[in-house]
Amino acid sequence: MERRVRVRFAPSPTGPLHIGGVRTALYNYLFARRHGGDFILRIEDTDSQRFVPGAEAYITEALKWCGIEVDEGVAEGGPHAPYRQSERREIYLKYALQLVESGNAYYAFDTPEELNALRAETEARGETFSYNYQVRERLATSLRLSAAEVEERIARGDQWVIRFKMPEGEEVHMRDLIRGEVTMNTSTLDDKVLYKSADRLPTYHLANIVDDHLMEISHVIRGEEWLPSLPLHYLLYRAFGWEQTRPEFAHLPLLLKPTGKGKLSKRDGDKMGFPVFPLRWVSPDGETAHGYREDGYFPEAFINMLALLGWNPGTEQELFSMQELIEQFSLERVSKSGARFQPEKAQWFNAQYMHRKSDAELAELYLPIAEAHGVECSRQKAERIVGLMKSRATFMSDFWELSDYFFAAPTEYDAKYMKKWWKPETPRYLAELKQVLAGADDFQAPVLDRAVNEWMDANGYPHGPVMNAFRLAIVGVGKGPGMFELCEVIGREESLERIGRALRELAPEA
Ligand code: GLU
Repeated sequence: MERRVRVRFAPSPTGPLHIGGVRTALYNYLFARRHGGDFILRIEDTDSQRFVPGAEAYITEALKWCGIEVDEGVAEGGPHAPYRQSERREIYLKYALQLVESGNAYYAFDTPEELNALRAETEARGETFSYNYQVRERLATSLRLSAAEVEERIARGDQWVIRFKMPEGEEVHMRDLIRGEVTMNTSTLDDKVLYKSADRLPTYHLANIVDDHLMEISHVIRGEEWLPSLPLHYLLYRAFGWEQTRPEFAHLPLLLKPTGKGKLSKRDGDKMGFPVFPLRWVSPDGETAHGYREDGYFPEAFINMLALLGWNPGTEQELFSMQELIEQFSLERVSKSGARFQPEKAQWFNAQYMHRKSDAELAELYLPIAEAHGVECSRQKAERIVGLMKSRATFMSDFWELSDYFFAAPTEYDAKYMKKWWKPETPRYLAELKQVLAGADDFQAPVLDRAVNEWMDANGYPHGPVMNAFRLAIVGVGKGPGMFELCEVIGREESLERIGRALRELAPEA
């Protein structure tokens, strides 16, 4: 029987989720939806040392902004609730003890001081310390101590941990859906801590395997940094006797810096001037980091960009809605090699989405901008403005600069532009143009276009100098959309007013 697809995104709330984490969540989500399966959000908060307040709420909000819908999770609940590991703490000890019982794990009583001394001693000999098969028999572990001694130490309240007893010299053969066969020799691996008496909490490895099993996870899709843990995870499945239902694994390629050299780090954004977080983050001590949302990116553009960082559809298509991503996504097309993050590409995607948005939708976003600048703007005018200007905007925040002249006459006239286009005959052109506009039957762009062109042609006036003087009078600088569209939006009265004013200011003697 085909196994139901169940995937999980399992972040640790140690800070804001960065874009690599969002990509992991996205690929899990796409995979789940593609296969009609479930997407689970599990919060892995067993490392109390690294817990950061606010991080979980940030993760939830970021997924929501991205349109990644959770089927089961901390907020949604579900058949395997709770989904926050700190609330599942009672579950894990039993499993750790089961491994001790079956000889796959053991108690270790070394204190941090003893371990530090041992590490220093080993390093003094020029070697690196590893808690493994070479040393475990000699240390204060249940492998060496008698059962009575172990019991006594536990009873008197000594701190202990349970460590996995990594087999010596065994080749572990693993399968990764992106990388294929992977083999690793266990002699290179240490005996990881699975459970700590100090806080009565499991470590990541134990909690992760136990929960993936209990939550019936079918596929583990996560970052490449977890690949070195895969042998341990395989061996844990074996030790528990859960190999039959062990999930499939897929390790996603790293996100690389824009230079292509090295892993994209949380600090790169600030250094290079682009966000590495989906949302703005304010740390508990007040430090802030930029977010895509607050920097004006549309979530669809952000998701589209992320989807293509490590996956490709095998065609030239670049723009994908979430639905199209769901239909086309496959792990086979995820690349093995790192994906270079390109901030310009993120902007490009945003511009593409901007250009494709309806005028009505953009007007909705434009109105508060106009209001913030203290101008009155009807919805109809907003629609006209965004419609005319959207092809030049990358972010909503670009709009004001692109459109302020729709609301106010120029207060000054650009000197360079003046020098180029203001000639002795210009006042005459403008005065006549004013008459033409005043007499136009209807103040609609096509009507104005026809009237002004007929007037220029009838008089043999050169179009360039006339139209540039026209722009200078209405806008004050050499920017803006077509003059007739612009005049239509500001209206007859305002257009005539601005020309009159330019004549008064620039040619007072005329
Ligand atoms: N809690 C781990 C993390 O923060 C999850 C790794 C995994 O998906 O197994 O990345």
